[in-house]
Amino acid sequence: MKIYIIGGGAAGMLAAIAAKESNPDAEVHLIEKNDKLGKKIFITGKGRGNMTNSLYIDEFFKNYVTNPRFLYSALYDFTNQDIIDLLEKNGCNTKTERGGRVFPVSDHAYSITDALKHYIKKLGVEIHYKTEVRGIRYKNGSVCGIDTCYGNYTADRIIVATGGLSYPSTGSTGDGYRFAKEAGMTVTETYPSLVCLNVHENDIYRLKGLTLKNIKINITDDDGKSYYKDFGDMDFIEEGLRGPVIISASAVITKYLNASDHSKRKILTVHIDLKPALTDEQLDERILRDFKEFRNKELRNAFSNLLPSQLIPAFIARLERRGVDINKKVTEVDRNARKQILSLLRDFEFTISGTGSFKEAIVTQGGVSVKDINPKTMESKKVSGLYFAGEVIDVDGYTGGFNMQMAFSTGHLAGLSAAQE
Ligand SMILES: Cc1cc2nc3c(=O)[nH]c(=O)nc-3n(C[C@H](O)[C@H](O)[C@H](O)COP(=O)(O)OP(=O)(O)OC[C@H]3O[C@@H](n4cnc5c(N)ncnc54)[C@H](O)[C@@H]3O)c2cc1C
Repeated sequence: MKIYIIGGGAAGMLAAIAAKESNPDAEVHLIEKNDKLGKKIFITGKGRGNMTNSLYIDEFFKNYVTNPRFLYSALYDFTNQDIIDLLEKNGCNTKTERGGRVFPVSDHAYSITDALKHYIKKLGVEIHYKTEVRGIRYKNGSVCGIDTCYGNYTADRIIVATGGLSYPSTGSTGDGYRFAKEAGMTVTETYPSLVCLNVHENDIYRLKGLTLKNIKINITDDDGKSYYKDFGDMDFIEEGLRGPVIISASAVITKYLNASDHSKRKILTVHIDLKPALTDEQLDERILRDFKEFRNKELRNAFSNLLPSQLIPAFIARLERRGVDINKKVTEVDRNARKQILSLLRDFEFTISGTGSFKEAIVTQGGVSVKDINPKTMESKKVSGLYFAGEVIDVDGYTGGFNMQMAFSTGHLAGLSAAQE
């Protein structure tokens, strides 16, 4: 039996391993257009390779934004412990850090690729580098071959593990979507996810480089409907917002910002509560205490205890726009002005103008519809012998190792199923 796997990323490598392990007589070919395997893995976890999470596997499902139930068989077939065991057996020891994030002990993502590549070679998988697959051939509703830049090959089973659209410089340029469409399958609209949010307000420029810790965000539309609420840290960047809490939010709101059907788009605002740990009463007391300390100063010079210095100019400019006289002595600031201060501390808002592009998105949301894939085998429901694995499928998760685990698990299940006689 000849099995061709298109794409040597996390999903493709696990597919090759599972296929060859379960059917050593099969001829397994791993086809990669780059000159190395797992180019994207090198940049995961800021180069440290957060390959999975230590949560119980039952807890994984709530960490997938789109179609978590589709992953049931794949995640139980090949769990987080299974990938850890496989890597450790092949020379990549692992460690668990904050939030259950699992990394190689070496702190180098390439240890993951080295271990997988070592095992793939040991199993006798044939790796074809710098080979781009251009099309898949079919006969009587089944796959029968692939066309590559070097010629055509006959194939009994084909696994598409070509990734999504994010970080196209790593080789993921959406080819798998074309293959799926040509096979008569549905591909849902794709959006950049786990990505920064751009904003309209000009004061963003003076905030670049600032990090806010332990803030609360609430993202709403014009009618006040809430789309995402969370606590955490955020960073200000050139034209927008990043950081853990924003990256997670992007996964939920990207479809409302990037929908190709403009009538489905929403105007969304991120409301930042700068002091979520304090009640209104506590916050007012805190302001009064500061006013006592700064009694000889003007209001604009009275926020150094309350706010990071880089935020103060933007904060007082916004206060002024709300009609508060920032040049008044703090002893003269009345209850109404204090109310404005409190309300701005509770709701320092930015109107979201869009997300970053696929070039900088950690994952792609959308892809080959799960309705057209059998979740127990990863085989296409439209064409026999055609399998899908990894980010090319319409499944995406939050940060923390869930996306790599999804690629490993669906890759393993696809490889295992494809290798059955
Ligand atoms: C900056 C960054 C950081 C990340 N950090 C993390 C993290 O810490 N933890 C986590 O869980 N996830 C992380 N991710 C996400 C994770 O890396 C991906 O979800 C996962 O690697 C997807 O694996 P894949 O095998 O499905 O696709 P890919 O890794 O994209 O692999 C697809 C492969 O197919 C090849 N290919 C495509 N088309 C063809 C063709 N026509 N012919 C031949 N070959 C082809 C490509 O060259 C590529 O090598 C990160 C992503 C990025 C961009």
